[in-house]
Amino acid sequence: MNKEDLKKIAVEEIDKNRDEIVQLGNSILMEPEEGFREFKTSKKIEDFFKKMEIEFKSGLAITGIKGYLSKERKGPSIGIIGELDALFNPEHPLADRKNGLAHACGHFAQIASMIGTGIGLAKVINYLDGNVVLFGVPAEEYINLEFRERLRKEEKIKFFGGKQELIRIGEFDDIDIAIMTHAQSSPERKAFIPESSNSFVGKNIKFIGKASHAGYAPFSGINALNAFNVALSAIHAQRETFRDEDAVRVHLIVTKGGDSVNIVPSEIKVEMYVRAKTIEAVEDAALKVDRALKGGALSVGCKVEITQIAGYLQLNSDKNLSQLWANNATAILGEGNVQSVPHFGGSTDMGDITNIKPGIHPSTGGFEGEPHTKDFKIVDEEMAYILPAKINALTVIDLLFNNAEKGKDIIVSFRPKFTKEEYLKLLDSLNYQVLWPSDEKQV
Ligand SMILES: [Zn+2]
Repeated sequence: MNKEDLKKIAVEEIDKNRDEIVQLGNSILMEPEEGFREFKTSKKIEDFFKKMEIEFKSGLAITGIKGYLSKERKGPSIGIIGELDALFNPEHPLADRKNGLAHACGHFAQIASMIGTGIGLAKVINYLDGNVVLFGVPAEEYINLEFRERLRKEEKIKFFGGKQELIRIGEFDDIDIAIMTHAQSSPERKAFIPESSNSFVGKNIKFIGKASHAGYAPFSGINALNAFNVALSAIHAQRETFRDEDAVRVHLIVTKGGDSVNIVPSEIKVEMYVRAKTIEAVEDAALKVDRALKGGALSVGCKVEITQIAGYLQLNSDKNLSQLWANNATAILGEGNVQSVPHFGGSTDMGDITNIKPGIHPSTGGFEGEPHTKDFKIVDEEMAYILPAKINALTVIDLLFNNAEKGKDIIVSFRPKFTKEEYLKLLDSLNYQVLWPSDEKQV
């Protein structure tokens, strides 16, 4: 059988199973779950793996699940990745009424297309020279830092991103090339291939003051909210020092602003990201932010506790793999419907993967509305679920056909930015906790 025959079989098989793939995507959309708590979503994948009669491992980094279309074949292993989690957006029309979670980033579609890719490739795997791993990964949305901090203290995780954890526990060791497609807010049948994304660190911040009656004894208290206010102004004062080319973003939310309006606020809690194009620029900005936070505390005489946790690294899309994927995307979507994007200001832990091994993170249309907002929604099931599955399946066939020539080429020409050990060391170096004043670094 030649390569074109195999491609035809895979595409036909995906079409034959269209309804089931769409149903899976829609069912995950309707049951959004938080990162490291995606038990139902993981179970839905498990049910598919059982039906496909493939070997799998579950409970990886709490909820991760990995199915092997083949395992023992000689040749490279290609990981097709789908993210399990949703995020908090109670205003979203499809938000879970109990917990406010909603699939406002389209991750449900990744799982559907991942399974679709697997269904297509299962039919032709015996003609390919390598392995295919379908990998449902937890916790891409870096949110609810307090919950993750608790998991960290319980030693259930060490890092806050699902892929970071999976790298740490060795579950990416048997994958040579990683492919993940992400939803793009574009109703059209188009695909986009970003070259890079922002790096970031997360900060969990607590201003600790002293409560007192806000009416008759405010002078006996220490107002932590005022400290935060000064700190926020001080952060804004740093902005002119950020270089345009670094694309620095400092953004935060207040998760606790006080207990009662008639009490001087004694505890303010803040979650923050410091992002930039490179991790070096992130570290520079993060130091300035720490200085501003301490300045706020100093101004009212309270304490500030800063817990910094490694975020994600810049995406480093593999050029050869991007080209191969773009060729197949053009074959499926038509000439002029695939474009490359130089840089996007968001962040993803696919970035971490692509610093260690060849990987790509293209995005595909079929959606409308800004991602993460209440307006984000799926508008074209074929584009959201089915076409990315076909593009990925065709790309894997290209990679693994004929002694996996193309796959091996990509692996050999890839220059990793870090070894796994160097990467883990870097992440460790970004984690710290400071209580100021007292200023001792505690890890
Ligand atoms: Zn996302």
